[in-house]
Amino acid sequence: MEDSLSRCACGIRRNPTAPVTPFGAPGTLVPGVSSSSPTTSAGPSRVLLAAPRGYCAGVDRAVEAVEHALDLHGAPIYVRKEIVHNKHVVDELEKRGAIFVDQETEVPEGERVVFSAHGVAPSVHANAKTRNLTTIDATCPLVTKVHVEAKKFAADGYTIVLIGHEGHEEVEGTTGEAPENIVLVQTEDEVETLEVEDPDRVAYITQTTLSVDETTSIINALKRKFPNITGPKTDDICYATTNRQQAVKALAKECDLVLVIGSTNSSNSVRLVEVAREHGVDSHLIDFHHEVDEAWLEGVETVGITSGASAPEDLVEDLVGFFRERGATDVSELNTVEEDVRFMLPSEIRKELSARSEGGTELPVVG
Ligand code: SF4
Repeated sequence: MEDSLSRCACGIRRNPTAPVTPFGAPGTLVPGVSSSSPTTSAGPSRVLLAAPRGYCAGVDRAVEAVEHALDLHGAPIYVRKEIVHNKHVVDELEKRGAIFVDQETEVPEGERVVFSAHGVAPSVHANAKTRNLTTIDATCPLVTKVHVEAKKFAADGYTIVLIGHEGHEEVEGTTGEAPENIVLVQTEDEVETLEVEDPDRVAYITQTTLSVDETTSIINALKRKFPNITGPKTDDICYATTNRQQAVKALAKECDLVLVIGSTNSSNSVRLVEVAREHGVDSHLIDFHHEVDEAWLEGVETVGITSGASAPEDLVEDLVGFFRERGATDVSELNTVEEDVRFMLPSEIRKELSARSEGGTELPVVG
């Protein structure tokens, strides 16, 4: 557990009992933004950052798993799918020697492969075994929890309604646990037309990165249609998704525009844009600060910034720097909840690190 006061990656203090805290000092040079950049046309005078934002424990663990694998074994390390849904993170790991592939069948026999934070179906593990691959499973423990629920409900003979987005890797992985039992539902309308074998033997589970409000509506529709439906003991939508949505709702009340740092294939980042818009504020998703469109800034006095669970903090700092260069002097954080969740590294990495430590080999430092 951390103290009630903690520091984010950029060293600023976060205090949950004092909701708005200053972010850096006016004129502070922000990484990635040159101090000599010419000041362009006027921008918002106030920048408000959501807290919490950015990296979650599952993303942190997955990225560290690839970094450790590269340090322990050297390049190349194969990674099935994007380790997390962020272009910048993937580019940086590629520079260090990670090779991203779409399927495990593309990995040369006998090589080492990391499975992404979104999880994989059992058939992927089976394929990897057939190809004699050494696997490192970086599936987020909160996704694994949903896989376990799917297996349990399937073993008990339930039809499982999976609330999620078609084609998302997490949904594909979860569905693979019980393909005969799982039916995907994406909207409340789809609940109305849903037919199941036994309406008294239905269970639901959800993708971890959905809109909390929208999912509640779908679950309520399921409960109306199947009064005996059962579900997980605790929510499947993860703490990071829930907290970031709560933070963006608070941000929307204070801002004329909310910018979300994240990639278009990042489900939780896209949801943040939707939540901000639903709460009455213009909002856009960007990977980098140079994607800000001048037209968005017209008449904007306060701009809010948040970032998806797979977006690194330095991209946020770049965006803050962009607005400072344009004259923003009031930069602060709006704290809604304190997070202190950490996950252990995947067991394959822990075993390797421990074996090297016992053998007296100097451990690499992950940077
Ligand atoms: Fe895990 Fe949630 Fe992060 Fe996904 S967003 S990696 S489920 S903590």
